[in-house]
Amino acid sequence: MSSEILFLIIFSIVVIGFFFEQIMDFLNASWFNKPIPEELKDVYDFDKYKKQQEYKTENYRFGIISSVFGFIMIVCMLLFDGFAFVDSLAGDLTENYILKTLMFFAIIFLAMDVLTMPFSIYHTFVIEKKYGFNKTTVKTYIFDKIKSLLLMAILGGGLLSLIIWFYELNPEYFWLFAWGLVVAFSLFMNMFYSVLIVPMFNKQTPLEDGELKDAIMKFGEQAGFNISKIFVIDGSKRSTKANAYFSGMGPKKRIVLYDTLIDEMSVDEIVAVLAHEIGHYKHKHIYKSMFASIIETGVTLFIFGLFAGSATLSQALGVETASFHIALIAFGIIYSPLSSLIGIVSAIFSRRAEYQADDFAAKYGLANELISALKKLTSHNMGNLTPHPWVVFTSYSHPPVLQRVRNLMK
Ligand SMILES: [Zn+2]
Repeated sequence: MSSEILFLIIFSIVVIGFFFEQIMDFLNASWFNKPIPEELKDVYDFDKYKKQQEYKTENYRFGIISSVFGFIMIVCMLLFDGFAFVDSLAGDLTENYILKTLMFFAIIFLAMDVLTMPFSIYHTFVIEKKYGFNKTTVKTYIFDKIKSLLLMAILGGGLLSLIIWFYELNPEYFWLFAWGLVVAFSLFMNMFYSVLIVPMFNKQTPLEDGELKDAIMKFGEQAGFNISKIFVIDGSKRSTKANAYFSGMGPKKRIVLYDTLIDEMSVDEIVAVLAHEIGHYKHKHIYKSMFASIIETGVTLFIFGLFAGSATLSQALGVETASFHIALIAFGIIYSPLSSLIGIVSAIFSRRAEYQADDFAAKYGLANELISALKKLTSHNMGNLTPHPWVVFTSYSHPPVLQRVRNLMK
């Protein structure tokens, strides 16, 4: 295949991907004003629903502007050989191949970050603030930014250096080494994320003794689940939006509750939310999804390994000689339709897992408490009551609240 044809394929994938996303968002927006289903009539009062409708519409418009901007950026990069330009820029800075690749990605990443920063600032400090969600101060925002950039540079840069090093040692089998490295890294992160990364951004404190802790421990006993580590995280530092999650595996497992969730819900409702989380654990969803993502990573790396040395891939983006990082960018775009398909399949499995976790809570007689918790969370986070079914099918990791309530009412 010639590099011109390959370029056309890459360009078409970018254009089609953009329009697909726009169509999905448009379909979703066209359902904003659908009548509220009977089961969800009590989620919002009239005024709050009006406000929520405005919030959705404003986010929709903002989404169009920021994705058009992103689309124009990538189209310009493709049409004007932007990747080749950054490649020669990085080449001027250093002779060392690993350093050059790191420079290349650092320049692209930083440029993207700077260009999209106005959008992120507007979203946090204008839209989220207007609807009462934002609690982030300018200081927290800046420190968050610096800390994530540093983390990205150290972890991302470290992993990438090792992968390129493997590639230089053995281009044929580098994918196998890269796979092993990525798997080891994600297992490590899964175990230690709560103790290494979270403390950089948030405070976690063990849940205080009292009515809530007693109720949770009692449920744990009932369900045959040893809950030794329950933490409260200061989500309120950044946003009023509430959540709860489960993290780690084996002895490292812990339950994390947002302080905003505790303020908002009754003890029974929180126990119901935890019962749902324990349901995920009992059904081994964490292990299953981890296994699936390990396989997916392996397959992706294997396919990339077949093309990493191809000069045609690099030439399609305007670089004459075969280059690992240019091939990686081209491959990333060509592979994106397949990875979207995999995303749809995994969303189907994820929604099924959510029903199983809900059913687990229902089995312990907590269906009504979970329904009221879900309704409170939806109202509190201004969730969409009427998403378009195609959007749900292609991108929702959780079933819409209506389906979950109906399932729990059975
Ligand atoms: Zn869940």
